[in-house]
Amino acid sequence: MSPADVEAALRPIDAARDILRRTFGHSEFRGLQASVIEEILAGRNALAVLPTGGGKSLCYQIPALVRPGLGLVVSPLIALMTDQVAALVQSGVAAARLDSNVDPAERAETWRRIEAGELDLLYVSPEGLMQPWMLDRLARTPLSILAIDEAHCVSQWGHDFRPEYRMLGRLAELFPGVPRLAVTATADARTRDDIRHELRLEGAAEFVASFARPELILSAERKRGNVEKRVLELVAARPERSGVIYAGSRDKTESLAAALRTAGVPALAYHAGLDKRVRAERLEEFLEADAAVMVATIAFGMGVDKPDVRFVIHADPPASIEAYWQEVGRAGRDGEPAEGITLYGAADMAWAFRRIAERDVDEGVKQTQGRKVRQLYAMLDGVNCRAAAVRRYFGEEGVEACGQCDICTGEVETIDVTVAAQKALSAAHRLGGRFGRGRVVDHLLGKTKDVSDWEAGLSTWGIGQDLSAPQWRDLTEQLLFEGLLKEDPNDGRPLVGLGDAEAVRAVFRGERAVLMRKPPEGAEAKGGRGRKPRREATAVGEADRPLFEALRAWRAREAKSQHVPPYV
Ligand code: ADP
Ligand code: MG
Ligand code: ZN
Repeated sequence: MSPADVEAALRPIDAARDILRRTFGHSEFRGLQASVIEEILAGRNALAVLPTGGGKSLCYQIPALVRPGLGLVVSPLIALMTDQVAALVQSGVAAARLDSNVDPAERAETWRRIEAGELDLLYVSPEGLMQPWMLDRLARTPLSILAIDEAHCVSQWGHDFRPEYRMLGRLAELFPGVPRLAVTATADARTRDDIRHELRLEGAAEFVASFARPELILSAERKRGNVEKRVLELVAARPERSGVIYAGSRDKTESLAAALRTAGVPALAYHAGLDKRVRAERLEEFLEADAAVMVATIAFGMGVDKPDVRFVIHADPPASIEAYWQEVGRAGRDGEPAEGITLYGAADMAWAFRRIAERDVDEGVKQTQGRKVRQLYAMLDGVNCRAAAVRRYFGEEGVEACGQCDICTGEVETIDVTVAAQKALSAAHRLGGRFGRGRVVDHLLGKTKDVSDWEAGLSTWGIGQDLSAPQWRDLTEQLLFEGLLKEDPNDGRPLVGLGDAEAVRAVFRGERAVLMRKPPEGAEAKGGRGRKPRREATAVGEADRPLFEALRAWRAREAKSQHVPPYV
């Protein structure tokens, strides 16, 4: 061997691959695993955003085994720690956990092993780790890596905010020189910024995997009539398969599971109100069954890894796009085709907004959460490829339509609004990013109050009189969601400008069509705003109500308050 060969043979990543094969039994690294591991092995910090099932655990487990010292893993849930530690021990890895469920004898033994340098991986909760005596004791232990799993819990923009995670920023100064790795499956650009800031990962390399899940066949439908009946139909059409059904309340999981069992489907209910032992039993039963249906609240989730889940049905919609992707992502982990079917309604959205309004948090947080709800429903009720919409939301660029969701396969009736979109885009262009959404709409309608000679002289002035103001607002909203328009925050008075130049050009050239969901019969007439009785616009429980009514109500409220736009 030449010296170069010798050096290559000793590269840390080769030692890592060796462990991947021998200890974990996998032949190759997946996706960005190797890059993340290399970064840590070089002693640097990193932030890795990999989809659910993407193999984030190995990104910290392997460096902990390659580098000398103890690897500390912070995890938000005891259940997650228990599963991972059990799996590691089974693979022959010296791993343990210290959490409130560990009895004193085991605790003492774990400390003995830590201090004797016998342990490679220690799982801890954030609040457990940050206790002063614990930090003191660990300060004397050489560490290989500090890993923060489910790192989105640090961000209050996220859906699993855990205030204890905020304390973890101190690890930077408490353990200087120890590489830190934050991993999560769900982080839009804003949450990522928050993670970096809160966890003091400013200079860390960022690894963001594609969020593509080509095995998922997605669809969404408005709730119509009896939801339970619809769910039974959906399940009956998918016999002998494992699935997860998410429902919005504990009661609903029980009643749905009972209805399914009556229909001969082996269904189990799962929610946080059940006894711990019952939950563990049901989980085990589900994991081991060839075909079982788990009807659950979101208490069922994080860390559940059943490869052959063939469908996830949302009997009630998820809380955000992040939650959607995580929950739907529990299907098809074996890479075989699997379905994600979401039922949603205007009442669900209204309920979500109400919940946010009632929360005891800062106004800014409320607005961000409200925006996330709106984005979720824009996706669910939209006319664009669902997978592509989600991936764009996560900041992926150059995303193509999936070709297999209900939108791509044309089950949703749409109207071509390309010409109107061209008008709106021209107007935004001519107005040169000087104005907000409302003013752009007024411009299109030729209704701007105190219009200047300059504006009235523009070729786009008043070219939009064929549509109503609400229709223009819907279209503007959609163009923002598609990235064809964008909003510049401008201190809470967002200004509308053109978005992605390439995409805008494609619309102008007629190479890209802009489609909108066809409004239900009689739902919207030109100039119809304000004509409908108020009672109708706010009625809850009418499944067939067009969602844009509720969207509009939210938007009207939101427009009154200062806000930063969702589209950055
Ligand atoms: P995440 O935390 O990103 O959701 P996990 O770390 O729990 O994902 O891993 C999900 C599954 O993928 C596990 O069953 C794990 O064994 C498997 N896995 C991880 N890395 C690889 C790999 N390189 N090759 C094959 N399987 C892998
Ligand atoms: Mg994980
Ligand atoms: Zn699609």
